[in-house]
Order: sequence, then structure tokens, then C-alpha cells
Amino acid sequence: MTKTITVIPGDGIGPEVTDATLEILKAAGADLEYDMQIAGLIALEEVRNPLPQATLDSSEKNRIILKGPLTTPSGAGFRSINVEMRKAFDLYSNVRPVRTIVPGGRYEDIDLVLIRENTEGLYVGVEHYIGMHGDARAAAESVMIITRFGAERICRYAFEYARKHGRKKVTLAHKANILKYTQGLFLEVGQDVASEYPDIEFEDRIIDATAMQLVLDPYRFDVLVMENMFGDILSDLMAGLVGGLGFAPAGNIGQDAAMFEAVHGSAPDIAGQGIANPTGLLLSACLMLDHMSQSETASRIRGAIDTVVLSGDTRTVDMGGSATTREFTAALVAALD
Ligand code: NAD
Repeated sequence: MTKTITVIPGDGIGPEVTDATLEILKAAGADLEYDMQIAGLIALEEVRNPLPQATLDSSEKNRIILKGPLTTPSGAGFRSINVEMRKAFDLYSNVRPVRTIVPGGRYEDIDLVLIRENTEGLYVGVEHYIGMHGDARAAAESVMIITRFGAERICRYAFEYARKHGRKKVTLAHKANILKYTQGLFLEVGQDVASEYPDIEFEDRIIDATAMQLVLDPYRFDVLVMENMFGDILSDLMAGLVGGLGFAPAGNIGQDAAMFEAVHGSAPDIAGQGIANPTGLLLSACLMLDHMSQSETASRIRGAIDTVVLSGDTRTVDMGGSATTREFTAALVAALD
């Protein structure tokens, strides 16, 4: 039976890269139907709610969401809808693979996966000011929350992912030398989980040393697992190893729901110009197809991306070319075998 997914094109370049992605999914023969919904600034303007109930209801029903970037106002304004969606569906695992597509960068043949805990750590948003000596904001405090439950399920996810995808090694990055309770618990739980997977090599590393080693010798890593904020930072570093955010996909996976989105944002500086690179969302859609047991279609799309980007004739501006989103999309459709 054809599966219906919820599609949220999003803000800024979102509608442009979503149109391109859906066109390529159709051309590749993905067995999908789309329930189009709105969120973010567009929804605020149209229905005065950045996360409309209809969008939540559709996501609740379909359980698979393909989402374009959403603009989050800095400081004042509504809270991040991305974070709200992750919370609403308990999408605890943020899977961010990076793979070399454009040759000639600092490294060739990078193929790494970062698995970031998506619901705990410092990002739970438990923070406040402390007033002193008449200054209401003399100090500020944020609480890092790590639970045995949360640490266990993300570490187990990392090992299961490694097994399923034929990966050899899991590295747990932490700061247990300084944060002995929170990071200590994460490490202890990770070590326990690792003992149940003797077929997968396991190592733990201090987060700062991990960052340096990723830059010096990324080939020593395979799958990396870490808490929320460390994962947020290192996944961008890893995107940098393969030429930046334009090629970085992400899957937010929960027990019975999943949301797929590019790592990049709504790019307001180029929105509406028809020059955005749709590869980040398209690769996220490929992760979605893998997740939905349509890996063959995902492989064909990845093959087309490799063919077009490697040939060098049709590249978008961010890749050093001059093709529009439409021209790049047409080239991808033509390259599908
Ligand atoms: P951004 O990723 O939108 O843009 C950074 C730079 O990269 C810009 O110069 C932009 O033109 C370029 N860029 C990004 N994606 C591109 C693409 N597909 N093709 C070509 N060029 C691309 O980051 P930002 O400017 O910091 O954020 C803009 C907005 O996006 C903010 O409101 C932010 O909160 C939001 N954001 C949303 C998400 C999400 O929805 N998951 C993620 C990150 C940022």
C-alpha cells in the first residue's frame, strides 16, 4: 500500500528545495503520497499559528514527516518549531551522516555517521537568571539533564545502527573527566550497552580531543554517539569535512515516528531567487526512503547526485557552478538510471 507522508515545505528556500525534491522522488518512482502542510513563518502569516493543529494532526496520523527549513526568530518571538516537533513526537535520535560527494576537498572518501541525542542535555531549556546586588541578570544558569533512560536508548540506537549498516566501530564522545555526574553517567551507560555488542568495536574519547582528531584524521572514526549539544557542534564540523552544510542530511528518529530535514536553514538571503541547492533535503529524503524500506530508490537518487555533481557541468552556485535549482533538478532527473 502506498504510504502517505506529511510534507512541510517550510520558509525561505524551503518551498523551492521541496518542489525539487518531490519532483525527483516522483521521477525515481518512490512509492509515496504527500499530505502538504504548513509551519513556521508562513503558517504564522496564514493562520496566525507557527505550528497549526492541522500540521500536528497530519504528522500524528502519518508518522513520517519530510520538512523544509523553518525560520526561527532570534531572541523574542515563537520557540523553534523544529524543537517543538522533535519533542511532540519524542524523536530522540538525530542521525547525521556525512559523505564526500564533491571531490577535491580537504579529504576524499569521508563516510561518517554522527548520532546525536535529541531530547536531553543542556537543550532541555532549563535555565534562569540569578539576581544579585540589584542586578536582576547578574548571573545565568543552565541545567544539563542526562537520564539513564535517555543515554541508554541513544547508545543502543548507535550500536543497532552500526550493526544494521555494516559499520565496524562506535566512538562515544564525552566530557566525563570534568562533568563527572552528567557526562559520567552517559559514559557509564554507553560502556554497559557496548558490552552487549561484542561484534562492534567500541571506544570512548574526550569531546575536545575528538574534535581535533576529526580534523586531523577523520578516517579513524566510523559511527559517533554523543549528547545533544556536543552532537550539534560536531555534526557541523563533520559537514565541514565534506564541503559544508549543502550536502548534510538529517533524520530525527523516534520509536514510532520520524522527521527528515536538511541540516541547513531557510537561507533568507537567497530565498525566491531560484538558485538554492536542493541536495540537503534530497539526501534527507533518501534517509527517509531507507527508513521506509525503499533503499533501492534511495540508491538510485544518490547515484544521480554523484553523477551530476561529479560531471561538473550542472552545479548550483554554492557548489561553484551557475545552474538554477530547476536546471540542477532537471539534470538529476535525467541522470536517474
Ligand atoms: P542558513 O543555513 O539558512 O544559511 C547559511 C548560509 O548558507 C547562507 O548564506 C545561505 O544562503 C547558504 N545556504 C543555506 N542553505 C543553502 C542551500 N540549500 N543552497 C544554497 N545556499 C544555501 O543559516 P542561517 O542564515 O543561520 O539561518 C536562517 C534561518 O534558518 C534562521 O531563522 C534559522 O533559525 C533557521 N534554521 C532552520 C533550520 C531548520 O529548520 N532545521 C536549521 C538551521 C537554521
